[in-house]
Amino acid sequence: MTALAQHIARLITETGPMPLSHFMALALGHPKHGYYMTRDPLGAQGDFTTSPEISQMFGELVGLWIAETWIAQGSPSPMILAEFGPGRGTLMADALRALRSVPGLLEALEVHFVETSPVLSALQKKNVPNATWHDRFDTLPQGPLYVIANEFFDALPVRQFVRLKQGWCERFVMLGEDSTEDAPKFEPAIMPVPLASLDILAPAHRNAPLNSLAEVSMASAAFTEDIAGRIKTHGGAALIIDYGHVKSAIGDTLQALRAHQFVDPFETPGEADITTHVDFEALVRAAKIGGVEAHGPIEQGTFLKALGIHERSETLKAKATLDQARDIDVAERRLTAREEMGSLFKVLALTPIGAPIPAGFEL
Ligand code: SAH
Repeated sequence: MTALAQHIARLITETGPMPLSHFMALALGHPKHGYYMTRDPLGAQGDFTTSPEISQMFGELVGLWIAETWIAQGSPSPMILAEFGPGRGTLMADALRALRSVPGLLEALEVHFVETSPVLSALQKKNVPNATWHDRFDTLPQGPLYVIANEFFDALPVRQFVRLKQGWCERFVMLGEDSTEDAPKFEPAIMPVPLASLDILAPAHRNAPLNSLAEVSMASAAFTEDIAGRIKTHGGAALIIDYGHVKSAIGDTLQALRAHQFVDPFETPGEADITTHVDFEALVRAAKIGGVEAHGPIEQGTFLKALGIHERSETLKAKATLDQARDIDVAERRLTAREEMGSLFKVLALTPIGAPIPAGFEL
């Protein structure tokens, strides 16, 4: 049993069952025992692998996308290049290397990281020494803002609601019947008290059939609206990449990964990566409330191909050994093939209203 499990069990005993979003926030972000606070979860030794960790091509192409978008908006200087949830800092390091050839951009940009994990911040500092760190959005400096967020939104807490006869009722986390002080057991349970107002649900969800489950991430909507508000005021853009669905869909997408295996999200809070699929329609709605234009979401494979991943891989292979060339081919396939990350992962771009359509989103 983990220290965090004991802490959560005590909270539930003292204050009652907690919304799933609260459980998820504690499991991932508890300042001392939260999953991200205590470890580097990435790579073969960790729990999951992300696109920038698969290949340098990913960060390079994202860097060039930022450059093109910045130039198309008149090269504002200074500009803030902010990454949310930068992991090991690999994406940013690859992006900055690719940007070196763009006149004026390195001089104009300030790198800012929004990150809550001390372990990952330390790794980021090794890869990108000259960044500035923030543990929340609102301390980012004001100015033209270019945001990158890869696999950030899937880690933000969600609430879940189930449509019962009496209305939409929230799923809470409570202690199971066989739970003891020494071995707490958590399980989800629906509070049979219906929502008084359906405003919180996606419009597409409100008339779903009985027993449908709807997910709502207030944190994702808030981050998106805040980012959009800054871009509206100061110019800039955002590139949001994650696994998820284009349209708000019914269904439970809560999952937990430990050592690359799916595990029960309620079993070892703080020890497994808990995520949900991102509802991109909800992000688009929040972006519009924030006052910007949304492009996409399009599939990651389509996006990377449009930015020239194949040409980049050919260039890299020309200088590579046979073994390296094979790895580059495998990486290109993993990032773009429909049955790998090419289709499940989506890319959404936000720009000021009336700004040029960003690269990759023209169709
Ligand atoms: N973008 C990286 C890492 C993805 S993992 C990559 O693609 O490899 C999720 C990242 O988001 C981690 O860096 C984690 O510490 C960070 N994170 C999770 N919740 C956060 C929050 N509420 N605020 C800031 N960072 C958060």
